[in-house]
Amino acid sequence: MAKTDSRVAIVTGASRGIGRSIAERLGADGFHMVLVARDEKRLDEVVSTIQSSGGSAETRVCDLADTKAVDALMTSILDTHGRLDVLVNNAGINRDGLILRMSDEDFDEVMNVNLKAAFVTCRAVARPMMRGRWGRIINIGSVTGLVGNAGQANYAAAKAGMVGMTKTLAKELGSKGITANVVAPGFIETDMTGALNSEILEEAAKRLPLRRLGKPDEIAHAVAFLASEGAGYVTGQVLTVDGGMVC
Ligand code: NAP
Repeated sequence: MAKTDSRVAIVTGASRGIGRSIAERLGADGFHMVLVARDEKRLDEVVSTIQSSGGSAETRVCDLADTKAVDALMTSILDTHGRLDVLVNNAGINRDGLILRMSDEDFDEVMNVNLKAAFVTCRAVARPMMRGRWGRIINIGSVTGLVGNAGQANYAAAKAGMVGMTKTLAKELGSKGITANVVAPGFIETDMTGALNSEILEEAAKRLPLRRLGKPDEIAHAVAFLASEGAGYVTGQVLTVDGGMVC
């Protein structure tokens, strides 16, 4: 018998940006939220926001670069709740540089946080989701994983790897009522894009069919759809939410 009655959703990288928006949205949709990141103070703020709108949430501090710690984290969450219904692998970093200058360390760190941690969490939720015969795996990719981007060989490789992994999970787990999809954002206003030159960003926005950058809650809407009961026949897909950048 499950220890937690409501469906439990985990969001990595929930302390800010897109992950925070996803956490708040799923919290409002009635999931009990497990919020993962390194910054405990910011995570606590997100918990307060969710609770003040009537939802429930808890935090788990974890450095996803340490994939052994990720494994232990998942075991601990499952021990506490006895179930995990929605998994959103959102945490991501970039360590950009042209291939000639990209170090092994920068390649490995991006692969660990953006892809291997997601593999470890997906593996951990597979059995409990199969037992419950219901599950939603939603991995946050990037348009860069679909079309590449100069200076981002590591990031593009991790995000493209996520697509292959997710499509495979859709095939392995579909018969148990578990869906697996990727949401691939374009340029979204967060700390990640805030680090870019604002003029370059404005120029990029002008070239988009929708002529603007996206907002974190526009990604959260797409995730909320894929996490919903109504998306039960959608699996193995990449949903780009990018203002029309890749079309
Ligand atoms: P962000 O504002 O930089 O936030 C990144 C989140 O990941 C933070 O919550 C951060 O939390 C967490 N994180 C980073 N490294 C971590 C680690 N080692 N361990 C645990 N948590 C870690 O990024 P964002 O723009 O919201 O991006 C979210 C996702 O969308 C990423 O996967 C990104 O690749 C993808 N994406 C973003 C854009 C965009 O334009 N913004 C475009 C395409 C794809 P702490 O610092 O508290 O640990």
